[in-house]
Amino acid sequence: MKTFTVSVVTPDGPVYEETGAEMVSAKATSGELGILPGHVPLVAPLTINAVRIKKDNNTQILAVSGGFIEVRPDQVTILAQAAELAADINVDRAKAAKERAEKRLQGSKQEDIDFKRAQYALDRAINRINVTSR
Ligand code: ATP
Repeated sequence: MKTFTVSVVTPDGPVYEETGAEMVSAKATSGELGILPGHVPLVAPLTINAVRIKKDNNTQILAVSGGFIEVRPDQVTILAQAAELAADINVDRAKAAKERAEKRLQGSKQEDIDFKRAQYALDRAINRINVTSR
């Protein structure tokens, strides 16, 4: 079976780096991507969402906070400001972040910069919570 190398990299360093992966699923801003080895080269911006990596009949799930995916036939690289493996997510922290963001959203107007920041913080927190419950 054909496989590829998958790396998920943040400013703090690599979060995931494995050879022998069989499939990567991610959500780009243009829609869901299901990538198999040998895929045509592609670069796409990602939404704040789960990324699934299938290897050895096992699927690892990560919470990825936006960034980009670069696909080459033998390699997939995800570059993001933050990314965590499901097992490394602190659910209480994410729940606290969700509550903080919800309070900020109530207290600011939609066009405010603080509203946008709170919306992204809320999206990150919800994504982390969702990833731990799958
Ligand atoms: P918080 O308000 O809890 O810091 P945040 O969304 O503002 O959440 P980020 O700026 O996205 O946090 O991430 C900062 C660093 O903390 C990153 O290294 C990220 O991987 C890590 N991180 C954030 N939230 C969690 C969490 N719930 N569990 C584990 N690591 C987390």
